[in-house]
Amino acid sequence: MDISRFPRRSYTSGSTPIQRLDRFSRSLGADGPTVYIKRDDQLGLAGGGNKTRKLEFLVADALARGADTLITCGGIQSNHCRLTASAAAREGLHCRLVLAGAEADFRPDGNGNVLLYRLLGAERITTVPWAADLAGALDQAAADAAAEGRRPYPIPLGGSNPVGALGYVACAMELLAQARDAGLDLQHIVLPVGSAGSLAGLLLGLRGLGSPIPVTGMTVLESRAAAEAAAVALIGATAAFLGSPVTVPGDQVVCLDDYLGAGYTLPTPGMIEAVTRLARTEGILLDPIYTGKAMAGLMDLVRRGRFAKGENVLFLHTGGAPGLYAHPEFFPG
Ligand SMILES: *Cc1c(COP(=O)(O)O)cnc(C)c1O
Repeated sequence: MDISRFPRRSYTSGSTPIQRLDRFSRSLGADGPTVYIKRDDQLGLAGGGNKTRKLEFLVADALARGADTLITCGGIQSNHCRLTASAAAREGLHCRLVLAGAEADFRPDGNGNVLLYRLLGAERITTVPWAADLAGALDQAAADAAAEGRRPYPIPLGGSNPVGALGYVACAMELLAQARDAGLDLQHIVLPVGSAGSLAGLLLGLRGLGSPIPVTGMTVLESRAAAEAAAVALIGATAAFLGSPVTVPGDQVVCLDDYLGAGYTLPTPGMIEAVTRLARTEGILLDPIYTGKAMAGLMDLVRRGRFAKGENVLFLHTGGAPGLYAHPEFFPG
């Protein structure tokens, strides 16, 4: 699987570490697997996280096309919008954001990612209702920028198109090389799923490199069926974009929605337990919206005996910890 012909910016030096979580694994019981974590929360740009890998390819494409303004969209507290603003600052580009949510939830003086949009110099932030047509609002923002004489480069929700998914094809290559060098035999990979670009790129990359490691995505945004359908579609589109004959059988595209709770961004007891446990056993911060719920899912599978003792399970930490500062009320004690 060759992605070297695609233009790419470099925002991280070296590979993100893979760490063995001895104290966390033991805390889940003596009969469970050994849990490892890949620290994509330590990717470059402000605050790190999975969108940095996608933006290496998306921003390179924007620059190749002569764009001067990155425009993207997300929820009110969007890690993707924060990292897009960071990439724009790094490249000397303008950045505009379209945020979906209740107007009352968007306080320009808010904390977490909202504070960082402003600090990173996002020049215009518009808000639309959560139920609005977000892709349409993004197109409108791009049309407005063009009418003002800008050369806009719109990036879809979560950076999840074939260009962005290349970032997680690259992650699959990095991860397999690290595991091989360390003599680490992985039996399973778990990660959170939102717009499904990370899952799609990772699965395509793994299978393209001949690795059969099963992957489970924990969806925090949509139903299982919707998340799996989005991943399947993006795997196909990304393979076509790459000109690759690799396919991923549908039964290998697995998302669980059991840990989503009442909805996107809404806290669950399992999320609170997972964030607190990883912080106190390993000193590693998860986030309340994505990785906290995905780790709650992994912990539940361990408790249900899904993995054998001695098996190695890798959790992909996709970042998001700045979102903790937007929700101190989730962690009162
Ligand atoms: C966006 C995001 C995800 C989801 O990644 P997708 O590629 O959109 O599925 C997971 N974790 C964090 C912290 C994110 O910001």
